[in-house]
Amino acid sequence: MRQIDHVIAGGTAAASRFGDVYDPNAGTVQAKVALGDAAVLEAAVAAALKVQPGWAATNPQRRARVMFAFKALVEREIDSLARMLSAEHGKVVADARGDIQRGLEVIEYACGIPHALKGEYTQGAGPGIDVYSMRVPLGIGAGITPFNFPAMIPMWMFGVAVACGNAFILKPSERDPSVPVRLAELMREAGAPEGILQVVHGDAEMVNAILDHPAIAAVSFVGSSDIAHHVYRRGVAAGKRVQAMGGAKNHGIVMPDADLDQVVHDLAGAAFGSAGERCMALPVVVPVGEKTALALREKMIPAMRKLRIGVSSDPEADYGPVVNAAHKARVEGWIAKGVEEGAELVVDGRGFTLQGHEGGYFIGPSLFDHVTPAMESYKEEIFGPVLQIVRADGFEDALRLASDHQYGNGVAIFTRNGHAAREFAARVNVGMVGINVPIPVPVAYHTFGGWKRSAFGDTNQHGPEGVKFWTKVKTVTARWPDGSPDGGNAFVIPTMG
Ligand code: NAD
Repeated sequence: MRQIDHVIAGGTAAASRFGDVYDPNAGTVQAKVALGDAAVLEAAVAAALKVQPGWAATNPQRRARVMFAFKALVEREIDSLARMLSAEHGKVVADARGDIQRGLEVIEYACGIPHALKGEYTQGAGPGIDVYSMRVPLGIGAGITPFNFPAMIPMWMFGVAVACGNAFILKPSERDPSVPVRLAELMREAGAPEGILQVVHGDAEMVNAILDHPAIAAVSFVGSSDIAHHVYRRGVAAGKRVQAMGGAKNHGIVMPDADLDQVVHDLAGAAFGSAGERCMALPVVVPVGEKTALALREKMIPAMRKLRIGVSSDPEADYGPVVNAAHKARVEGWIAKGVEEGAELVVDGRGFTLQGHEGGYFIGPSLFDHVTPAMESYKEEIFGPVLQIVRADGFEDALRLASDHQYGNGVAIFTRNGHAAREFAARVNVGMVGINVPIPVPVAYHTFGGWKRSAFGDTNQHGPEGVKFWTKVKTVTARWPDGSPDGGNAFVIPTMG
């Protein structure tokens, strides 16, 4: 059986624990991934410590050239990377390409790192005094990433961290680790010194070793909220800089004046694409007014019946299987819970099997109506192909639903009314807002981050916020005296008064 190993400068000793990597289309184990421990991490940290000072001292244009070369290599391999990703994750190949492409856009941003790292300068801040600041890399950064974007999210992190002059240790999801390994190999081929980007695999044991390691200055995490909170607390207690993005339950508000055909088209992709395993999926739709609710439901049902569920390599498929058997059972458990709580299950996706692939982790699309804010199945993230209709009486009601939910990653409003959209964007208590855009993932040169239980810490991913996260500021106040005596009182704090 294929074995997936850590990528550590100088290699590692044989692993004692392994995890199963499934083929979600077939429901079988396709590879074993080494699960590392503190000793494996120690080897990675030692290698990173050796090489990082030289990398930080390399001028930023040269570091940027490595990012340019990496981008070209990933583009060269994008088809095979997308197939590799799709085969472990279960998302369809075209969507896997999108996963890689959105990551590459952060690499494109990182190609401009010399500009992003330029500091500030004040000539003559006082008599003969100049002040300047510089952005300095932190040293060693680590990234802990989820299964659902095994290319994009690692690139959000290491793209910026490495370009800024840090060494980076990536702990990808143990469920689909092959693409992260290949990305690290390609970074090496692009000219990153060995040890600048390393990959350690593992589960909670490795994550906790990272959080406790004194030489790791900063940790970026993306995953579910309880684990994000744990990572945040433990990392901060160890004195690290931590950003920890968590789960989501994004709402799509449909105003009575929205173009319903467009909304249904957008919702089908945003709720069921990637089998709903996206933190920016739209699993909750909030029609405003009874008439909107009825019309939306009428149009949604046939659109769902048309969805094609297939193996992830099927170019005609809209979505593929979920990632593993445990996740399939969890999603189906939430559907059962919704029924038990009294929501109306309009379309039931349970029990779906794909002919010839009976062992695969496929789930048909499900639609609930009359979901209420008191239901557990509304409060929690389902992370599967399940759309819930929560009816709202008016705009304020809809705004309150999205604002009061424990998660605040993304939200969308569908309307033709500019004033309503503007009000909504200004007032909603959510980090990323779409106006007639169902999945408002910001472009790479802006930044990504939710609010409330969707993110712990205070800086977003990538873009200028990423540069801020992966660097610290040093400010220099310089005086070049001309030799004439300075009669000021040295015992009073200097002021510019
Ligand atoms: P997860 O929380 O199970 O795993 C994320 C990472 O944490 C993995 O690397 C995993 O190995 C590690 N981990 C798992 N259990 C751990 C434990 N007990 N202690 C320490 N570390 C542990 O998440 P997932 O299932 O891989 O990904 C899906 C989740 O990620 C969803 O909740 C989704 O909303 C969220 N997500 C959020 C964003 C965002 O930007 N907010 C983006 C993508 C995914």
